[in-house]
Amino acid sequence: MVHDFCVIGGGIVGLATAMRLLQIDPGASLVLLEKENSLARHQTGHNSGVIHAGIYYQPGSLKARLCKEGARATKDFCTEHGIAFEECGKLLVASTPLEMQRMEALYERSQQNALKVERLDGTELQRREPNIGHL
Ligand SMILES: Cc1cc2nc3c(=O)[nH]c(=O)nc-3n(C[C@H](O)[C@H](O)[C@H](O)COP(=O)(O)OP(=O)(O)OC[C@H]3O[C@@H](n4cnc5c(N)ncnc54)[C@H](O)[C@@H]3O)c2cc1C
Repeated sequence: MVHDFCVIGGGIVGLATAMRLLQIDPGASLVLLEKENSLARHQTGHNSGVIHAGIYYQPGSLKARLCKEGARATKDFCTEHGIAFEECGKLLVASTPLEMQRMEALYERSQQNALKVERLDGTELQRREPNIGHL
C-alpha cells in the first residue's frame, strides 16, 4: 500500500509531526509506524511531566523561542482537548552567595526571555509556602 507520508515512531515528536502533516494536508494518507504495542511507551511516557518555560535558554536563541512557543502550543492543545494541566510555577532556591550570583544571572535571563518571574526573600517564601520548613 502506498501512503503520502510515513512517520516512524509514536512518541510525542512522531505524533505531533503526524498531526501537523494532516493539518497542513487534510486529504493526505499517513501511516505511523510504532514498534511497541501502544503509543508513548518510551521517553514520552516516562518524563517529568513539566511544561518548560525556557528560563535557562540563551535569550534570542532558537531554543528559547521554540520552548516558549511550545509551552503555549502545549497548553492550547490541552485546553482544546480537555486535558488537565497545572500552572503551579517553579521555585528556584539559592542557598549560598555563589548560587545567589547565579540566580541574579538567571533572573536577568528570564527578563530577556519575557518570562514572568518573582524574586522572593526567605521571609516571603515562608509566608507563601509555610510547609517548606525552616530556611
Ligand atoms: C528523565 C527525563 C525527563 C524529562 N522530562 C521532561 C519534561 O518534564 N518535560 C519535557 O517537555 N520534556 C522532558 N523530557 C524530554 C522528553 O521526554 C523527550 O524530549 C520526548 O519525550 C522525546 O520524544 P520522542 O518522540 O522524540 O521520543 P520517544 O518518546 O522515545 O519516542 C520514540 C518512539 O519511536 C519508537 N521507535 C524507535 N525506533 C523505532 C523503529 N525502528 N520503528 C518503529 N518505531 C520505533 C519508539 O518505540 C518510541 O515510541 C525528559 C527526558 C528525560 C530523559
